[in-house]
Amino acid sequence: MMPSPPLIYAELLPNIRQISVLAALPTPSDGTTRVSLSGDRAILTLVHNGATASLQLPGAIAPTYNPAQPHPNLAQLSWRIPLAASLLQPRAAPSVTAPWSAGALAGTSSFSCRGCGQVILSPGRVTTWRDLPSENWAEMMEFWHCHKPDVPVGEKGDEEGGDNTTKGYGANTRMMAQKGVGKVDLTYFLLDGEDCSGLETNPSSLTLSCTSCAAHIGISTPAGNQLYKWSLSLTAPLTTATSSPTTQLAPTSPPLPHFLLPQLHAQSSALGVSKFIIRPPPPPADAKSESNADAEVGVYVWLFAPSLTVSFSSISSHPTSSSPALTPRNSSPPPPLPASKLLFRPSPPRDEATAVLDAPNSAVEEVRLPASVVRAFATLLQESNARLPEGARVFAGGWDVGILEVWNGGEGVV
Ligand SMILES: [Zn+2]
Ligand SMILES: [Zn+2]
Repeated sequence: MMPSPPLIYAELLPNIRQISVLAALPTPSDGTTRVSLSGDRAILTLVHNGATASLQLPGAIAPTYNPAQPHPNLAQLSWRIPLAASLLQPRAAPSVTAPWSAGALAGTSSFSCRGCGQVILSPGRVTTWRDLPSENWAEMMEFWHCHKPDVPVGEKGDEEGGDNTTKGYGANTRMMAQKGVGKVDLTYFLLDGEDCSGLETNPSSLTLSCTSCAAHIGISTPAGNQLYKWSLSLTAPLTTATSSPTTQLAPTSPPLPHFLLPQLHAQSSALGVSKFIIRPPPPPADAKSESNADAEVGVYVWLFAPSLTVSFSSISSHPTSSSPALTPRNSSPPPPLPASKLLFRPSPPRDEATAVLDAPNSAVEEVRLPASVVRAFATLLQESNARLPEGARVFAGGWDVGILEVWNGGEGVV
């Protein structure tokens, strides 16, 4: 059994021109515990009890800095490293945008079910892609949930009834699906039903499922079919001349947070709110007990820092027991990541959560997503929490800390 390596996490703090480094040791520090910098001062290495962990620092550090050796008998170590003074702009805060904007898609772009590969949008069906107007956020909110800002309590109407009225949709035809046109939001495509294939509509919940693998692909709304981007894979387009694949620059299957974090960020900026209860819509009146269990799924999230640059010493949360020969000795640590820091806790029970959302001057917004998506997001938050050193995992007030990678924007026009 190999000794557990130390766990190191670093965060770039551009405002105070420092890098915060936290490390957790499996046993308290002793005479074997040493910290050092690589020759190019880009990598910090911690050795403890025969195990080594290295981390790529998320910024260039001051040339005179040398990390202090740890005091004995500590399980948690921390350093504040000053950034190089010569750098005027340390590293711009990463932008928080979602993949598959209209500009990145083409008339040849097609989409298939991410679960089984069945074609959902054949190539050529949609010849024009258009971003849904972000300036119409008040109206966009109609698509997402029922909480309109600044509506006094009591005027919210049949809040939990879940009735899918056409109110608000007709006001703006730009918000309606149109045959041959793909309308693009951060998290979904709005398509005309006739442009889609391989979908089945549940008559009571109006969810759209893949006819082949039953995966939840989206929802049928009065404005058209809303297909969740994270349920789809972008299929490489073929050129008509040669039928050979063209260069595919847009990512084919970006993970859920690459779409959901920009959504939370946009909602936060538009409404001046940073806390969200992410949960499924209320169950339909004829719900069976399983969907009632789904209705209690939820995660309470605080978008604490939407745009950070961070580094981890290792991707795996558990030390492997594989033989040292199988472990590449000189593999470089993972590169710094653009990320969002979210604080999270389980959502209170549904009625309580609704009371929080409906309270006067509530600073909490609701995001409605299918139960499976809420569960997947909560799992990703928990997994990211386990990758942090012990001392960085919790935040005052009963919150756990999650660090999720945001998309780096590396997408060209197809
Ligand atoms: Zn609501
Ligand atoms: Zn499928």
